Amino acid sequence: MEANKHIQKYFEEIEEETNRCYEIAEGARKKGYDPEEKVEIVLAKNLAERAIGLISTVAPEINESGEEIVKRIAELEEEYGNQDWRVALKISEEITKEQYCKFSDKKKAIEVGIRFGIAYITVGVVASPLEGFTKLELKKRRDGKEYFSLYFSGPIRSAGGTGASVSVVIADYIRKVMGYDEYDPDENEIKRVSTELRDYHERVTNLQYFPSEEEIHFMVEKLPVQIDGDPSEKYEVSNYKDLDRIETNIIRNGVCLVIGEGLCQKAPKVWKQLDKWGKDFELKHWDFLEGFLSLQKKIKAKGDVKGEKQNITPDYTFIKDLVAGRPVLSHPLAKGGLRLRYGRTRMSGFSSTALHPATMFVLENYIAAGTQLKVERPGKATVVGVCDSIEGPIVKLNSGNVVYLGNEEIAEKYVKDIEEVLFLGDVLVNYGDFFNRAHKLVKPGYCEEWWLLEFEKKIQKKGIVELKEEYGINTELLKKLFKGDLDISGEDAVDLSKKLKLNLHPKYTYHWTEIGKDGLISLYKWIMNGSINKEENKIKKIILPFNVVSVDEPDPKRVLELLGVPHLVISNEHVVIEDDDASALVYSLCLDNEKFDLDDVVKAKQENVLELLCKNIKLKDKSGIFIGSRMGRPEKAKMRKLTGSPHVLFPVGDEGGRLRCFQSAMEKGKIRGEFPYYICQNCKGETIFPICSRCDGKTKRIYHCLDCNLDMDNKCSKLKRINGNEEEHNCRLYKTQEIDINNYFQTIARKLKLTHYPELIKGVRGTSNEDHSPENLAKGILRAMEDVYVNKDGTVRYDMTEMAITHFKPKEIGTSAEKLKKLGYEKDVNGGELLDDNQIIELMPQDIILPACDESPDEGADEVLFRVSKFIDSLLERFYGLDNYYSLEKKEDLVGHLILGMSPHTSAGILGRIIGFSKLQGFLAHPLFHSIMRRDCDGDEACVVLLMDALLNFSR
Ligand SMILES: [Zn+2]
Ligand SMILES: [Zn+2]
Repeated sequence: MEANKHIQKYFEEIEEETNRCYEIAEGARKKGYDPEEKVEIVLAKNLAERAIGLISTVAPEINESGEEIVKRIAELEEEYGNQDWRVALKISEEITKEQYCKFSDKKKAIEVGIRFGIAYITVGVVASPLEGFTKLELKKRRDGKEYFSLYFSGPIRSAGGTGASVSVVIADYIRKVMGYDEYDPDENEIKRVSTELRDYHERVTNLQYFPSEEEIHFMVEKLPVQIDGDPSEKYEVSNYKDLDRIETNIIRNGVCLVIGEGLCQKAPKVWKQLDKWGKDFELKHWDFLEGFLSLQKKIKAKGDVKGEKQNITPDYTFIKDLVAGRPVLSHPLAKGGLRLRYGRTRMSGFSSTALHPATMFVLENYIAAGTQLKVERPGKATVVGVCDSIEGPIVKLNSGNVVYLGNEEIAEKYVKDIEEVLFLGDVLVNYGDFFNRAHKLVKPGYCEEWWLLEFEKKIQKKGIVELKEEYGINTELLKKLFKGDLDISGEDAVDLSKKLKLNLHPKYTYHWTEIGKDGLISLYKWIMNGSINKEENKIKKIILPFNVVSVDEPDPKRVLELLGVPHLVISNEHVVIEDDDASALVYSLCLDNEKFDLDDVVKAKQENVLELLCKNIKLKDKSGIFIGSRMGRPEKAKMRKLTGSPHVLFPVGDEGGRLRCFQSAMEKGKIRGEFPYYICQNCKGETIFPICSRCDGKTKRIYHCLDCNLDMDNKCSKLKRINGNEEEHNCRLYKTQEIDINNYFQTIARKLKLTHYPELIKGVRGTSNEDHSPENLAKGILRAMEDVYVNKDGTVRYDMTEMAITHFKPKEIGTSAEKLKKLGYEKDVNGGELLDDNQIIELMPQDIILPACDESPDEGADEVLFRVSKFIDSLLERFYGLDNYYSLEKKEDLVGHLILGMSPHTSAGILGRIIGFSKLQGFLAHPLFHSIMRRDCDGDEACVVLLMDALLNFSR
C-alpha cells in the first residue's frame, strides 16, 4: 500500500499491537477451556482474505486453497487494478470451474463462484453475498434449454445499487462461460416485474429510484438472466399472478431492489465499465444498456419540460411512519421549517447534517447532537450535528417581540418566552448527499457564501485602495470582508448593495416570498403612517403604531413576523424596528427614494412580492427551500444487554427461576438442560466442559444417539426408515442432562480463588448455538463482578449512534496534546506543531472517539469499557493463568487501546483505536471507518468491543 511515512507508521503500530493481542489470546484459547482451541475471529488483512473468510462459512471447501486464491487475486489486481470488476469476473469464473477446489455439484460450484464475486465487489464485509443473493435456479426456457434464475432478497441492499447490479453482471458472465442460455421472458413476466415494482414503491416503501414502466420493460426484456426472489412482504402483487416461472404471488423485495435501485438506477455506471471492456469478457450482449440509457434520457427530459418547479413537490414519506413521542418539526416544504443550506462541517456529511445550536435550544434540546431526524430530502434520515456559522431561528416572544437567535446565549435568554417559532433556522446538508441519492440539486435560500461569490465577481480582483477610489467604499468594511468576516452592519449592507449594484446581503434580506402583495401594501401603509427616525442622516429607528385596525388588509405586524424582520413591541403602543434592520427594510422597500410612489406598487402587474421589489433594488430569495422533518430516534450510547441481562451464555433452565440466575438454581441444587457431554481422559469423570473441572485433565466429547438412546464415541452410523426413505440416526454432540450446579460452581470459584462472589449472577434460559456448548461459568462470575453483560456472541458490546468526524481538538476529546503526540499526532491541520489543546487536528482513519457523558442516564463507554478491561484482566489471570493485558488505573488509560467496530448486517469487525472521549452520545469516527462498516451516518447505530474481549470470548 502507498501512504506517507507517518500514516505507514500508524498502520504498522496498529498491526503490531493486534498481533500481540492475537498471541495472548491464542495462548489463552490453547488452554482448552473454551469450546474452540483457537481464536474464532480470523484476521483478514485485505479484501481477498475477508472474502474467503465470508464465503467459507457456506463453502468451507475454499479454505483449503485460500492462499492460492489470495495470490491469484493479487495477480488479477496487478493486471486490472484494485477492486476492478474484472477481478471479480475472473476469480468467479475460476472458482466456478473448480480450479481451486471441488464442490459437491456443478450448481453449487456456480453459486459459490457468484457469491465469491459478490463478496469481492462488496469488499468482503457485508452479508449480501450470502443472504442477499440467496440461490441460483436453473430453469427451462420455452425451447427446453436451461437459463439462470437468480434469487435475491432484502440483504442485497447492503451491497448498494452498484453492487447489486454488478452481482447480476457476474452471474451472467458465469452463465455465458458455463454455456447456459439466455432468459426468454414473456410479456406477462415482464409486466409482472413492472407491476411488482410499482406495488412495492407505493405500498411497502419508497425505492430510491423508481423507474418508469418503459424502463423496466426494456430492462427485463433484454436482461440475459431472470431476476427472481423469495416472497418478502405481506401483500400479493396487484396483477400478473400465477405465472409458471415465478413461484410466488407475494411481492419480492429482492427483485424490486435489484431492478429498481440496482440495474435501472445504476445503468450509467455499469455501462461506463462494460462499454470499455465488456466485449473482452464475452459481455457484448450487454450493449442493450446503451439503448436503455438513451430511453432513460428521453424519459427524464420529458419530465423536465413540465417546468423546473414541478420536480420539487412535497414528499410525505418521512411523516407516514410517524411514531408516538417523536414530534414533527415541520411538514413537507412548510414555511419556517429547516432551511436548506449546502455545506459541511468537520462533524457532518456522509448523510449527517448540522443545525444551529440556537435551533437546538428552541427545540428545548429535544433534538441534540446525535439525534436522528427523519427528513423530507435528500435522503430519508440524518443524524444531526452542530454548526454555528449557519442561520439560527427567528422567534416571536410572548411580548410580541420578534428576535433572531444568533447564538446560544441569546437563545438561552429567550427560550422560556417563546410564543411562536417563525423560522427554525438552517439545516446544513452536504452536496454529496444529494448526489449520492440521485436527488436533483435544489436551489437554496440566499446565504453568505453565495453573496460572497457575487461580491468577488463584482470587484474583479481589485484591491482595497482601488475599490475605495472607484466606489467610495469604507476601508474598514473592505478589510473586514477581505478577511472573510461577513457579519456586517445593515447600513454597510445597504451601502454595498447601492454602490456595487450587488444583491442585498443575506443577513438583511427578509423572507419576501412568504408574503403576498396585499401584505406588502398593508406593510407600506403602516410604515408610511409611522415615522422613520434619523440621526446625522442615518436611519436609526422605524416607529410604528401598535394598534392598526383594518379589517380588509392583512395585519402588518403579522407581515413583519412572516418576513422575519426583528422588531420590538414597546408598552403595547409602538412597534419599533431598530438600526440595522431599519436601514435594510427602508432600503428594501425603496422608501429612501423620494420618487417612490405606493400607487406604482398597487397598480403593478406583478403579484410576486420579490419581483415587485426587485424593480427597484437587487434582492434574492432568502427562503429557498424548507425541508420537512421529524424526530427519528434519540441519540443513543449504552451497553447492549440481551433480554434478561445475562452475565454468561450458560443455561440455567427452569431452575434459574424468574431472574434466570445461578443462585436460584443452586438452591434447587441442579439444572436440567441440554449440555455437551465429555469424559475426562484422566479421572474418567463426566463433565460438561472441554477441560475436566475436577482434575483439569483433557476430555473426550461423547456423542449421544437419540434413536439408539446410547452414548457413543463416534457418530452413530445406523440408518432408520422413514416413509420409505433411509435416514441417518439423530445423533448429537449433547444430551439432556441434570447437572449438579453447586459442584460445578464451587469448583470454579475455587479455581478462580474467589472467597466471595456477586449475589446475582445471571445465565440464559437455554443455549442457542448449534452444539449447545455453554460458556464457562467462570466468565459469568467474573463479568458479574465487574457488572458487565454478555451478548449472543460472547462479547460485551457498547452501542452508539454513528457520527462522522474528520477533525477534532484535543480539548474536545479529553486527551492532552502530549498524549496525542505519543499516538502519532504530531501536526495540526495547518501543519503546525501540536502544542496546545485548542488546535484542530485531522483524524486518522482508524481512530475513534467514544461517548462519556455524565449527564446521560446511561453509562458512558469509558465506564463500561474500563470495567470490561478489568473483567478481561481477571479472566486472563484467574481463569487462564496468564498475565493481565490492560492493567488500567483510570478510564482515560483506555486511550490508545484497540477495539472492533461492528455494524448490524456486517460479517466483519473493523479494527479501530480509541483516542479519546467526548460528551456527544455518538460513535465518532472518520467517514472512511463508517464506510468500511458499510454504513453512512443517517442515525443508525454500531457497536464497539474491546479487541481482547473479542479475541478471547467471541464464539459463533
Ligand atoms: Zn478429570
Ligand atoms: Zn443410533
